[in-house]
Amino acid sequence: MLAYTYIKQGKFELIEKPKPELRGSRDAIVRVTLGSICTSDLHIKHGGVPRAVPGITVGHEMVGIVEQTGRDVKLVKPGDRVTVNVETFCGECFFCRHGYVNNCADPNGGWALGCRIDGGQTEYVRVPYADQGLNLIPDSVSDEQALFVGDILATGFWAARISEITEEDTVLVIGAGSTGICTLLCVMLRKPQRIVVCEQSSERIRFVREHYPQVEVVTPEECKEFVLQSSPHGGADVVFEVAGGEDTFRLAWECARPNAVVILVALYDRPQILPLPDMYGKNLIFKTGGVDGCDCAEILRLIEMGKIDTTPLITHRFPLDQIETAYQIFENRQDGVIKVAVAMEAGM
Ligand SMILES: [Zn+2]
Ligand SMILES: [Zn+2]
Repeated sequence: MLAYTYIKQGKFELIEKPKPELRGSRDAIVRVTLGSICTSDLHIKHGGVPRAVPGITVGHEMVGIVEQTGRDVKLVKPGDRVTVNVETFCGECFFCRHGYVNNCADPNGGWALGCRIDGGQTEYVRVPYADQGLNLIPDSVSDEQALFVGDILATGFWAARISEITEEDTVLVIGAGSTGICTLLCVMLRKPQRIVVCEQSSERIRFVREHYPQVEVVTPEECKEFVLQSSPHGGADVVFEVAGGEDTFRLAWECARPNAVVILVALYDRPQILPLPDMYGKNLIFKTGGVDGCDCAEILRLIEMGKIDTTPLITHRFPLDQIETAYQIFENRQDGVIKVAVAMEAGM
């Protein structure tokens, strides 16, 4: 089968590999039908993920059909349509039992697929702990509707879940990339009084205005003054930092009112400064990133009910043999791309 593979720093290549086989009794083999490219794939390509193993198949955003299961897999069976979770977790350790699956104590836990073990930009993938890592896609939900459930949508859902939003709140979301939009969608489910999105790119601003007209949009330059002056308590009640830019951490806490919750979803390239003397008395609550992707069944239910729709994020579609072009467009942000969907089935 063809597998898009991390050869060495700076180089991914579509190469022929044998079909994966079951290794443990809790594994499943999934025939990948649709996958996507994530910014984290680019981080691997450019050497920003030291634990990524050269030779592995990349890709950790995918949906597919269960082909084969190990004897201890109970919740899925061959023929089931499933989403695949970006995180591998045992479901049994202290952290898993408390829902902190991102910190699963299993040596193979965490972000393994498409990083430390073969991922999903290919035709078949082996998923360890399949009962935890796979979720059934309802019949009425399409592959495209379910594509982001295991990664960026799980991230947005988790961020909204821990945010303590109430219906009186002004919520600020910094960053309207694909994870920012997923966060926005999950914030909207909680019906805060007002949502402000801060974004720099004119293309993304246009996207937010077109699809979510009920949301206010500001640029980073306008953001602080606008939020502080227009909020009843001198700042946002809840802030999501999903941009991870040069100054966006500072912007996040500066836009928060005293006693606000600030959720740091972004993955930063560099350390950030926490100027405690300037913050003294502001009594902020920071919650830091690293998705606990254990709500995928609930997210799929919400998609089925029509309450979450991430399909507008899919701006481009390619077959697996054109994945090189898909990467080029995604990496260079060409042609208004937000997310690409790659059909992994051979001959499609
Ligand atoms: Zn990802
Ligand atoms: Zn665990």
